[in-house]
Amino acid sequence: MIRYYSTNRDLKDVGGLKPFTGLATFREALLMGQAPDEGLFMPDRIPTLEMKDIRSLRSRPYAEAALLVGRAFLAQELPDETLRRVVEDAYDFPVPLERVRDDWYVMRLDQGPTASFKDFAARMMARLMSVFLKPGERLHVLVATSGDTGSAVGEAYRAVPGIDVTILYPRDEVSERQKRQLDAIGLNVRSISVVGKFDDCQNLVKAAFADPSLGGLNLTSANSINFGRILPQIVYYVYAYAQLAREGEEICFSVPSGNFGDALGCEYARRMGLPVRRLVMPTNENDEFPRYLETGIYEKISPSRPCLSNAMNVGHPSNLARFFDLYGGTVDRNGVVHRYPDREEMKRRIFSVSVSDEETKETIVRVYRDHGTLLEPHGAVGWRGLEIFRERTGDESLSVCLETAHPAKFPNEIKELLGFDPDLPPSMADIDTREGSCIELPADYEAFRAFLLANPRVASPPRG
Ligand SMILES: *Cc1c(COP(=O)(O)O)cnc(C)c1O
Repeated sequence: MIRYYSTNRDLKDVGGLKPFTGLATFREALLMGQAPDEGLFMPDRIPTLEMKDIRSLRSRPYAEAALLVGRAFLAQELPDETLRRVVEDAYDFPVPLERVRDDWYVMRLDQGPTASFKDFAARMMARLMSVFLKPGERLHVLVATSGDTGSAVGEAYRAVPGIDVTILYPRDEVSERQKRQLDAIGLNVRSISVVGKFDDCQNLVKAAFADPSLGGLNLTSANSINFGRILPQIVYYVYAYAQLAREGEEICFSVPSGNFGDALGCEYARRMGLPVRRLVMPTNENDEFPRYLETGIYEKISPSRPCLSNAMNVGHPSNLARFFDLYGGTVDRNGVVHRYPDREEMKRRIFSVSVSDEETKETIVRVYRDHGTLLEPHGAVGWRGLEIFRERTGDESLSVCLETAHPAKFPNEIKELLGFDPDLPPSMADIDTREGSCIELPADYEAFRAFLLANPRVASPPRG
């Protein structure tokens, strides 16, 4: 059985916390989110896939790829029929692979309910949490959001049995569209509009997690560093390879990167046996990682730099701890390196480069003009990174660039650069007419606590 250790296990002292030297099951890692020493959980063994099983996924639904990868990690902990139900319920939307030129493709991960690749991870994690609950047990997920993450998480948990979700957002800092998206989720998901800032929402959530008087609610986070969110992100690399590659062919993926969870999925896919020639990890102007690969010195960027590809404005990627661990190093959550990894080995496997906002815009315009392919800022960083990789190395392998959000989420940028309004994806077509409701609360912990105690349940999702 695969067990999960903490990336901090070898440290002497982690800011006053004792290093966690034990091992957790997948279920424990999933429900805890983070190791007790605030390190990240890592599988102690990486299962391998048979090439014939990968190839058998060709022309098969995406859920089959999720079943293959999920089974490799979970077969000892979850019955196969349960896992099949989880993946078939999570993945009921298309995953287009679009040929742009020659052997260059874009994989669009933007057809889920909130038109972002985060839907892939959040939907599978939500369902896994639900099936790992003991009979009669309930969980209450608390999320503070400045907009997009909250709706991806909220939609992912909608109607998932055994779980209530409360989302807090800052009343005056979300757009009208984001507010509609959050308020209209409904069923077992409710939103609280906080009269305050995003930081206030985060502080309310943190205080609630630390408050023993709320113990009865079984509060948990849908943390982005949960291994349950990494596992589903391995799947689309396997899927893309199965659809596109010829027998024995190698493939390159370009993954626009912020907290490195998406790219980590590719690193695991390669270690599971997928013939990945190079993992290309372009960043925006937050260039701490490409700098490290070049100079051997890691320095986080604080505060992070605001760029067009705003979901990648990260000055110290949380999943860097996992990359360092896989290559023999240790870095803590504050960005302090305790042991450097094997940088030469990393450079053989990974190519990283920083793409400026100017280049991002230029890429959106050029790729649309030359190929008719519409990219938004994150995907454009990925595409430009892939071009630079091919220019510098002469590599001509089959290449897939991930498009991580739908262009309609960036109407102003697209209008300014290309002169038209991108069409909304089907999942968002009704966005401006959705009706919902929220509760308004002051940025005051006592008020929030009293509200939670008086309303511990959101609503029961329909049976199904
Ligand atoms: C979160 C996000 C990213 C970055 O993904 P990481 O896993 O944090 O590297 C890229 N694009 C979009 C649209 C995102 O929402």
